[in-house]
Amino acid sequence: MKFKAEVAKLLDLVVNSLYSEKHVFLRELISNASDACDKLKYMALIDPDMAKAAKDFKITITPDAKENILIIADNGIGMNKDDLINHLGTIAKSGTSDFVNNVKDNGSAVDLIGQFGVGFYSAFMVANKVEIMTKKAGEDQAWSWKSEGIGGFDIKEAEKQANGTEIKLYLKEEDKDFTDSIYLRHIIRTYSDHINYPIVLNLGEMGEETANTASALWTRNKAEITSEQYKEFYHHVSRNFDEPWMTMHFKAEGSIEYTGLLYIPGQAPYDLFQPDVKQGLKLYVNKVFISDKVEGLIPHYMRFVKGVVDSSDLPLNISREMLQQNALIAKIKNGIVTRILKELKKRSEKHDDYMEFWKIFGTVLKEGIYEDLTNREEVAALARFYSTKYSDKMVSLDEYIERIKADEKVIYYITGDDVKVLNNNPQLEAFREKDIEVLLLTDPIDEFWTQVLGSYKGTAIKHISAAKIDLDVERKGKKAEEAKLTKLKEIMTETLKDEVGSVVETEKLTSSPASLTVEAGQMSIHLERLMKNHQQKTTFASTRILEINPYHPLVIKLSELAEDEKSKAKIEDVTKILLDQAKIAEGEAITDPSFFASKLSEYILSSF
Ligand code: ADP
Ligand code: MG
Repeated sequence: MKFKAEVAKLLDLVVNSLYSEKHVFLRELISNASDACDKLKYMALIDPDMAKAAKDFKITITPDAKENILIIADNGIGMNKDDLINHLGTIAKSGTSDFVNNVKDNGSAVDLIGQFGVGFYSAFMVANKVEIMTKKAGEDQAWSWKSEGIGGFDIKEAEKQANGTEIKLYLKEEDKDFTDSIYLRHIIRTYSDHINYPIVLNLGEMGEETANTASALWTRNKAEITSEQYKEFYHHVSRNFDEPWMTMHFKAEGSIEYTGLLYIPGQAPYDLFQPDVKQGLKLYVNKVFISDKVEGLIPHYMRFVKGVVDSSDLPLNISREMLQQNALIAKIKNGIVTRILKELKKRSEKHDDYMEFWKIFGTVLKEGIYEDLTNREEVAALARFYSTKYSDKMVSLDEYIERIKADEKVIYYITGDDVKVLNNNPQLEAFREKDIEVLLLTDPIDEFWTQVLGSYKGTAIKHISAAKIDLDVERKGKKAEEAKLTKLKEIMTETLKDEVGSVVETEKLTSSPASLTVEAGQMSIHLERLMKNHQQKTTFASTRILEINPYHPLVIKLSELAEDEKSKAKIEDVTKILLDQAKIAEGEAITDPSFFASKLSEYILSSF
């Protein structure tokens, strides 16, 4: 049979570009053998017929230096003909297909090996030929599968007594090292020590030895676990191969007992924002593996947390389908959330260290401010934001509150796409002048949690357009004359009638001639833009208001021209340019860019 196209591509990559970390193949095959044992162990819980086969689980590694062969065998679930075709002929799932998609997108396989296990096919990194003998638990017929790589594979009926899988690698000449027992022992200890089943090195006449510790890492005493072991286990459960930013190992006691070994990665997983990717924690009941990616154990806004939960209070025969609704699971989840929030709070006291986490996962954690009714304030306390106070340091809501000088306590914010653009928004001029700090919020999610939360520890949270305070700035300079200004506003309003609801004068601007805002209480310009970008039809677009600064020389000049009928065309042009400038400052697209560009050139030229 032929491999599916994506498998052929993967094989090609594996054989031709991934040679820097060849030992990866052993980690992958051992991990598959361990999964196979987990699967049978779980089936035996549900199906008593399986119980006979499901015992004395182990993974056996047999090197043959003379023939240059390495055999990896397990007594797990095994595969039938369909399994062989579906799982080893196409790219079935998880690690492997993610890897291929990423290589397709990013081109470089070598960089990615660090981030992915490449599954079964990594066998071809070291082997010219792979032969599998396998028998599925509960079935009579055994099968053999053979392949020399890209060309395809053969499947035949075969003889095998016990259930399980035996993978025979005909090693390449240059990969002879993998028959060396000392080297094998070293690789197993380094990368597979945490595997819960014994990994037995079968050294022929020299006998057998177990090369790993073979006890569930999370059940061991913290003091006996090295940071290397914690890290290796993290690589196994998360399929990330970076340094975890946080490792939490704890035992909860009380109404329900459970152990958790949880990690926060040090890098953003590529699928953090893919809504269809299943996230979650691994669940064990009394060291028996129950399910991967149990979503009920961790809230969506903590989907970056990886690891294992083990509880002996759950029934062993709990069905995977029922996990989501189980009350004990929900209880464990609450406990875990509280613990993680507490740990994060501790870490947040060290600013630089905490920023490493916040810059990667902050956007996700913030979802908790509106998702998690119970812990809303705790999550908000962990959030960090850019503010007008500093150019690069992020601040917390508590810090902000501490700095408020005004009698009326309000947390002000403005939303947009980019911190730098926001920071130059003319709407902030009066706030700066009056030394009122404003948070600069740039995540889409910020539009929502600010609405939902409304206030933090009793302090209202308000968009600056909803500010009720007196923002009038003290003036020394000349102001446009009232009558002329009225006339100017008339012309401007008429010129812009399709785009803005009104043109009003404001005392808030200091250096800019004009600025765009919305009526208090309406959807912010940024939110409207977000909705449009997501093809959301908004039935109620906010009414734009163009605010003009009567102290600005440009506005004064225009007001003087306003009485002269001959200048009308010019005022109209400049009005349109003022609106365009205000839009640019808001991060908005301008309606007629070529008009803007040509008028601007014209005026620049006339100034020489
Ligand atoms: P993954 O482990 O991420 O699913 P792999 O490429 O490592 O991807 O393995 C593909 C599939 O082949 C596995 O999901 C499993 O169904 C099957 N498989 C591989 N090795 C074994 C084994 N030793 N016993 C039973 N099934 C196996
Ligand atoms: Mg695998």
